[in-house]
Order: sequence, then C-alpha cells, then structure tokens
Amino acid sequence: MCDFCTKHGEGKKWYLQVKNYADELLYEELSSTQRDIVKVTTRVEYLDNLFENFVMPAISSVSKEQITSHGAPTSTEPSDVLPSEETTVASRQIEHFGQILPIEDAEKVIDIASSITRMACGCRFANAGKKDERYHFGLMVDRRGTLEKFPDAAASLEVLDKEETKKTFRKYDEEGMIHMIWTAVTPYVMCLCNCDRDCSNYRNYIQKRGTPRFFRAEYICKVDWNFCKGCRSCMSRCQFGAKTYSSALGKVYIDPTRCFGCGVCRAVCENDAITIIPRHEDTEAANIWLQDTTK
Ligand code: SF4
Ligand code: SF4
Ligand code: SF4
Repeated sequence: MCDFCTKHGEGKKWYLQVKNYADELLYEELSSTQRDIVKVTTRVEYLDNLFENFVMPAISSVSKEQITSHGAPTSTEPSDVLPSEETTVASRQIEHFGQILPIEDAEKVIDIASSITRMACGCRFANAGKKDERYHFGLMVDRRGTLEKFPDAAASLEVLDKEETKKTFRKYDEEGMIHMIWTAVTPYVMCLCNCDRDCSNYRNYIQKRGTPRFFRAEYICKVDWNFCKGCRSCMSRCQFGAKTYSSALGKVYIDPTRCFGCGVCRAVCENDAITIIPRHEDTEAANIWLQDTTK
C-alpha cells in the first residue's frame, strides 16, 4: 500500500474511503502545517483558486502563460534557496498529489463520488494549445457551488451521471489514456483525469525526470507467455517504458520495477495475455511507489 493508504486509508486504498470525499473535509479548518503550505484556511478556498487559475484559462482560452501547471505547488512563496527534492515532494503530498489507478478502481471512485463534472483539460491546453479536450473530471464541483461562482464557465461544464462517466472512461481506456486521481489538500479527492503525453505532470515528472507528482498504482501488470503471441501491439501503449520485446522468445516482458500499473496495455491485447495483479504480490515491485529520478 502506498503512503496515502497507510495515512488516510486505514489499511485500505485511500481513494476508496468515503470519508476522503466528505463535506466535513472540504469545510474544515486546515492545520497550521497545511496552511503554511497552501496559504489558505480551507479546502474550498484552495479549490476556488485552482479553478480560477487552472480550469478557467482552459475554458476561456487565455494565453498559455496564464495557466498554472497542474500538479505544481500553486502557493509556494518565491525563495532564493531552492528546497530539496525531498521537501518539495513532502509539500506536494500535502497540497496536491496524484496516483495512477486502473479502470476498475476508477469505476469504483465514480460510484463513490456524489457529483461528476466534465471540463476542459488545462494541461492539454497549456502544453499543446488543444482547446476542446475534455478529459478532466472534477468531483463534487457543482455540490460546492462552483458553477454559481463562475457563471460564465458554467456552460462549458457538463455534469454527468455515473453511467455516462463510466462509459466515457471505458472508451478512454481503450484509447490508451491513463487514469489518475488527485487530491486538493490531501486526503480530499478533487478529480479523476485521463492523461496522455500532453499531461503536465507526466511531462515534468516522467519525461523530464523531474520531482515526483504522483504514486504508481496499487497494481502492476504481467504478461502470460502461454498466451502472448509476440504481436507487440501493447508496446506503444506503455507511457513508462516498462515493456521489452525478446526476439529470441518472440514474447513481450513487463519489467515490474518500471510498471506503473495503469493497466491500459490490456485493452489492445487480443489474446488476453496481460493481467493485472496487486503490487504487493510481486516482491520486486511491492515497495516501489515513485520513479527513481536519479537513474
Ligand atoms: S491531469 Fe490529465 S486530464 Fe487532468 S488536466 Fe492534466 S492532462 Fe488533463
Ligand atoms: S498485445 Fe498481447 S499478444 Fe501482443 S505482444 Fe502484447 S501481450 Fe503479447
Ligand atoms: S506495462 Fe505497466 S505501466 Fe506499462 S501500460 Fe502496462 S500497466 Fe501501464
């Protein structure tokens, strides 16, 4: 189990705990440690700021410079002395941090969330100028009155029912989008995302080997060589470089130390050779949650 499950999940997956979606968390006064990091006193204020600085620019298509990088600390004071990576990750884990989850768990989250709002994707707008990519799903947005606070944006925000959302997520899974869940002052759950290589967090953390922004999933995938025909269709699906092809064997292998457990490679395997297992069942992968950015 990742650190969040231990601290906020009572031994279960943190994002499947109903208490982490509750209004009590949304409106409670933050601790002094949390306030020092996020510079506001409640999660509602934090979410309003995030909405204004991240979602609104994507909706109104303002310049790229006006949009903040999703996942970057939004409230850290400028400083002459750069904090260590360890300090930055610790702050991010308090403020806004993510975890990859497979489609099965994304569907369980959809079942828990009391409202789901589909909206424009800030990362794809900021990084690729794509204005109508609607892969970002805010949780409880309408319940906290956000739509009333930003009436100009309301027309661009679609409140979806659970079945519609699941159907959309299934489609994205088949297209190879990785699913991620994010906090707004941990452990409050704020959104579910469907990301590709245009995601700011993916680019900064994985592509540029920067400071971690999300945990790996509570799972990894395995290839059963009894079924693998070596077609290699699954290889390009992996955004984490976890797959290698052995020409000697004519099979694909998933390196458990590199697999992030997103599970999206399964959808392209016509031979059902790829299965997902709990991370803790693999001794090599069991305790790997973050990318080793020094390698
Ligand atoms: S995290 Fe993913 S879905 Fe959410 S805004 Fe970024 S790229 Fe879009
Ligand atoms: S898609 Fe399936 S059969 Fe093809 S290489 Fe991957 S695991 Fe093997
Ligand atoms: S090998 Fe692992 S990280 Fe790569 S696509 Fe499959 S589940 Fe995701």
